[in-house]
Amino acid sequence: MLFRQFFDHDSYTYTYLIATREGGDALLIDPVLSKVKFYLKFINELNLNLRFVIDTHVHADHITGAGELKRATGCKIAMSHMTKAQGVDIYLNEYDRITIGPIALKTLLTPGHTDDSLCMLADDRLFTGDTLFIRGTGRTDFQHGCAETQYHCLFDKLLSLDDATLIYPGHDYNGATVSTIGEEKRYNPRLQVNSSQEYVALMASLNLPNPKLIDIAVPANLNCGLIPEREPSLA
Ligand code: FE
Repeated sequence: MLFRQFFDHDSYTYTYLIATREGGDALLIDPVLSKVKFYLKFINELNLNLRFVIDTHVHADHITGAGELKRATGCKIAMSHMTKAQGVDIYLNEYDRITIGPIALKTLLTPGHTDDSLCMLADDRLFTGDTLFIRGTGRTDFQHGCAETQYHCLFDKLLSLDDATLIYPGHDYNGATVSTIGEEKRYNPRLQVNSSQEYVALMASLNLPNPKLIDIAVPANLNCGLIPEREPSLA
């Protein structure tokens, strides 16, 4: 397997490239629009065939590169079946798989940060989007977020995976790149709660400012990052 982790310094977003091999089929998780040329150069250099883009949710802090990559390569866009985004080709349900050659990514629906959040499990690597961060969890105070739902996705679903499972988050603001389920169970401050009520209270106390780009990013991402075609003016 060919695996690369890319970082967008403007939004602290991680984007993941998975391919079967040089010259083989590939997919991207959470690409950023401003980095599309960079991804395409990389894909061309390694002679990869981009088959899928998976967006883990409708992002509020950056514009997705999914639509632009689909235009450029003909790849298919996959998101949760819960998403309201237009232009999605594959609507993922629980345990649905996206496969390239022998590599399968299994869908784990994890609403909470947004109602359309999901994680993808590829063998021992879990791509957690904004559900589980390294020493943090995704905020739940907008886009139909719900701390109670997120608590159950975290504790009943993700933390029941093997402790050695590698965590690859959608963002990191401190420079960390990878963790494990076991490490997060022990050291993630958001996971040191004894009940869903405690978690809900913790999330309600965060009082975070809205992301700078929310008013631009969310409408764009509801169209997979493409500016909607304008209706021709009759005037
Ligand atoms: Fe997010």
